[in-house]
Amino acid sequence: MTKKADVACQGTTSVVPQAHQDEHGALAPEPCFSPAQPAPRARVQAMKEYHPPLGSRDALRLDFNENTLACSPKVREVLGCISAGSLTRYPEREPVEAIVAAHLGLAAEQVALTNGVDEAIHVLFEAFLEDGDELLLTVPTYTMYEIYASATDARIVAVQAADDLRFSFERLLAAITPRTKIVAIANPNSPSGSAATRAQLVEIASRAPHAVVLVDEAYFHFHGETLMDLIGVVPNLIVARTFSKAYGLAGLRLGLLAGSVELMRWVRRVLSPYSVNSLALACLLPALEDSSYLDWYVREVLAARAEFEAVLDVAGVRRWPSRANFVLVEIGARHAEFARLLRTAGVLVRDRSSDPGCDGRVRITIGTREQMQKAAVALNETLHALKIKGQGQ
Ligand code: PMP
Repeated sequence: MTKKADVACQGTTSVVPQAHQDEHGALAPEPCFSPAQPAPRARVQAMKEYHPPLGSRDALRLDFNENTLACSPKVREVLGCISAGSLTRYPEREPVEAIVAAHLGLAAEQVALTNGVDEAIHVLFEAFLEDGDELLLTVPTYTMYEIYASATDARIVAVQAADDLRFSFERLLAAITPRTKIVAIANPNSPSGSAATRAQLVEIASRAPHAVVLVDEAYFHFHGETLMDLIGVVPNLIVARTFSKAYGLAGLRLGLLAGSVELMRWVRRVLSPYSVNSLALACLLPALEDSSYLDWYVREVLAARAEFEAVLDVAGVRRWPSRANFVLVEIGARHAEFARLLRTAGVLVRDRSSDPGCDGRVRITIGTREQMQKAAVALNETLHALKIKGQGQ
């Protein structure tokens, strides 16, 4: 029998599926094991399959919050110089970890490089979550927290955001229990783009001293606010960063966790020693060093976001204020057609309707101004074709 994993909800919150289905993600078929076949753990049987809607993305990619252009040319140069001989060696992460730690103003023991933030989340949850523990989340949020937690024996406690999708500070505080083991907060959050304040995050850490507070700063560069300086100061804080977004290295899979030496010791026990490959390690340093490219890309996206938000306002499309490189918009009942028509016009966007409390809402990644001007034309044509909202008000 498939054992259903627990999902608890607090206060005014509503039940969310443990690993809600993506808009194009296929639901797992009911598992059917012949007695002769080895059965996976009950938790794994109960997990939903998660298939990110990739595939034929040869278009304007406003669907995955990636860098929509390119990584730094300095990274390209290093990639071009990688010798065949160097690939014969196992990757050595420690020297690179030490440099990254110094870049962040931390000690090497406080930082672990990972195969993207996804691996960081996975490893953190494997290290800390067990039977009787609770993972506390606000939803909607990044899908992979639920997916990885559902492979553990912990309960997922999901606090539903209000319609404004602002950070549910009071509700989250009220949901902390002695069983809370990890509080996972994407800051800024996805798909809403909303952010918690530093004071709120510090308050949560102090009200849950028995829990790890994971602040996932995947979109830090667009937001500009961080808790990285509190690593080692706030003992239960762990900060995650990715090189998939502003740095434009999603294909290389590079992320990191930063936390106190004590917490990071447990993370390292679970982390595979070779999960960050040598190409990624080689590219990390030029990516860090080329701060002028990073600054240029971030400035470009922020300017494009302001222009695109103005387009949405003129079109009368409701949007949520964003601190990241994407914006969530209200399309309503015709959300799927909207995404489909835009795809036909060569613009990929992400229908988030299956996220808790997001019915009819679509997330649009912000690229460069030139890209967003093209997207704006396609958007207006699509809204017009579907007779959505007050055009050209
Ligand atoms: N955290 C958040 C909040 C994200 O939105 C994403 C990617 N969409 C990730 C983590 C995953 O980052 P990575 O590519 O480093 O695994």
